[in-house]
Amino acid sequence: MSGQRPTNLREAHAHIFQLGRSLSMLDLGKCESREQMLDEISTFAKSLGDHDWLLAHGARPEQWDDQRWPTREQLDHASNDRPVAAWCFDYHAMVASSAALRYAMIDSGTKIKTGIVELDTNNEPTGLLLEHAALRMWNRVPEPDGDQRRTLVLQACTHLRDLGFSEVHDLKAQPWLGTLLSELLGSGEIDMRFELFPLIPDLEPSLEAQRSGIDDRVRIAGGKIFVDGTLNSRTAWMLHPFADGNPDYPCGTPMMSPAAIEKALLTCKEHDLPLAAHAIGDAAVRATLDAIDRTGCNDTGCRIEHAEVIDEADIHRFIDQSVIVSMQPCHLLPDIEALRRALPERLDRVLPIMELLKAGLAPGLDLLFGSDVPIVRANAQDSIQAAVHRRRVGMDASEAISIGHAIDEATAWACFGLK
Ligand SMILES: [Zn+2]
Repeated sequence: MSGQRPTNLREAHAHIFQLGRSLSMLDLGKCESREQMLDEISTFAKSLGDHDWLLAHGARPEQWDDQRWPTREQLDHASNDRPVAAWCFDYHAMVASSAALRYAMIDSGTKIKTGIVELDTNNEPTGLLLEHAALRMWNRVPEPDGDQRRTLVLQACTHLRDLGFSEVHDLKAQPWLGTLLSELLGSGEIDMRFELFPLIPDLEPSLEAQRSGIDDRVRIAGGKIFVDGTLNSRTAWMLHPFADGNPDYPCGTPMMSPAAIEKALLTCKEHDLPLAAHAIGDAAVRATLDAIDRTGCNDTGCRIEHAEVIDEADIHRFIDQSVIVSMQPCHLLPDIEALRRALPERLDRVLPIMELLKAGLAPGLDLLFGSDVPIVRANAQDSIQAAVHRRRVGMDASEAISIGHAIDEATAWACFGLK
């Protein structure tokens, strides 16, 4: 299998429009210093129109010798005073230029709940924005219009096709996405299959679009909810406290009550559709399985997305309740060090793929692999590496995370739908 890339794979967890947007941004992933980041921005700015925003992503200043982000003034200078918004690789922090901050009306007096606007010694914003302050900025960046949207979605699909994917599941599909994909399929610009999972409030408008006629290669396949946060931000909802968690929420943060999960399940059931639930921590996974059971939604094709940590007691429930596990093993690769800090006592519960298979889940049918692109790249090889070796290429075998959960390469490819 190695060497040649398989085709006809299924990417079971993607964000197509966001991928298109990220492909059009400046990628700062290879920058090794602040100076290099500013050089890249300066060069990229020259390729843009006078009033265009400069959007970038992938910066990893914690890996630079001098770990400081560029300041707002340095961004102004490098970009010729245009609005600049540059994301950290994990999308939890961003630096913005003066023009961008003005546009978003963020200044030294701005207070944002669960967000930080960093200030310098003169009490002026440095340009660095954390968590919800970064999101506030991002939400003010002008949205691509209809034509740009079409171009971005087409680029994303072509990118995924080139990586060998012929079927893509979008796990937060916009209500317009089905119609747009349908147009691209109809014109012959792409030839792939899509399953779309809009957020619950977007479910009805998405189904309405489907009723008014879309290509049969596109299907509204269920609703999507977020039950918890992420491991990186220690907001995944855990049964046991993180070793290095936030004192205010040591076991992470549930984002939905059991009653709210039930309501979402019942809304989907009314439409004869399953629910796909983002559940990363073991408590979120259990709360979702409980709600599926209580609402009688067993056997309806409900999915748990991510399921990065699963308690031993819940493994058999996926088979008993016919719940699909949609995992992205590739996240293990950059997260190895963080997992050791966060869950030193629970590493044996991280991505317990072998246990799920032994319990009876069938690769490619009820155990699906994907990437969560554009959070990480969509290359299936990354998840194969993680599932088979449980560590990055070049790492010593002793550094693997729970090697007992490793599976063989053919089984890992089968989870991508390879027959
Ligand atoms: Zn996702």
